[in-house]
Amino acid sequence: MKKLMAANWKMYKTVEEGVKTAEELTGLLGEMPADREVLVCPSLTMLQAVCPILKQAGCHAGAQNFYPSKQGAFTGEIAPEQLLDLGCTHALAGHSERRHVLGEMNELIGRKVTFGLEAGLHMILCIGETIVERRLGQIEEVLARQLESGLAEVLTTARAENLSVAYEPVWAIGTGEVAGPDEVLAAHAFVRAKLKSLLPQEGGRVRILYGGSVKPDNAAAIIRLDNVDGVLVGGASLKADSFSQIVLA
Ligand code: PEP
Repeated sequence: MKKLMAANWKMYKTVEEGVKTAEELTGLLGEMPADREVLVCPSLTMLQAVCPILKQAGCHAGAQNFYPSKQGAFTGEIAPEQLLDLGCTHALAGHSERRHVLGEMNELIGRKVTFGLEAGLHMILCIGETIVERRLGQIEEVLARQLESGLAEVLTTARAENLSVAYEPVWAIGTGEVAGPDEVLAAHAFVRAKLKSLLPQEGGRVRILYGGSVKPDNAAAIIRLDNVDGVLVGGASLKADSFSQIVLA
């Protein structure tokens, strides 16, 4: 299984800056290593400009968010079909900033996963516990709930090639505090077991990414851990140089 190395550019960069970073990144990566797949999720504003650059280099372009409807009166939102129209192949759902800053609930996140898959996007369901939940010993309970609701409607139709889960402990996102190897191993083993029980046919092959302060100097150790099938990178993906080092780690 190829490792999925994903960048989340969040709400950063102008179109010009995004194009420049994508060009630098694809230049630095050169020929893609056989065991890696690269995905960049920029802001919607620059998708049209950045998609062709990524595609030409064999990388994927993804969206950070969408609304789960074909079209309609949803002011300010964007539909999966509009993303596909721009050349997007992937999308995130349930990123911790959408859960905790924008108040997205498990039920809406589950609808996004189902709708995105049905529209033909590769969906990355992001899950993870807060520091309070970790201290209260609720990690497994939280991850189980987020997986069950995130995948509630896709149990029979999901195909492993179209679905990934990103384990991103909230306390490690953008904080510089990375989860230790034992913490990553334990969480990913739990997610794998849960995926196998929710999706008996495909759960063993759904990629599980780690996210949370991944940097060039810790990426190699993280990516080689059991059940770590890729990474989702925020801050360190904004510069082509550091993200290319992570991709090639
Ligand atoms: C993210 O945004 O998904 C993320 C993991 O951010 P960072 O790498 O900055 O912690």
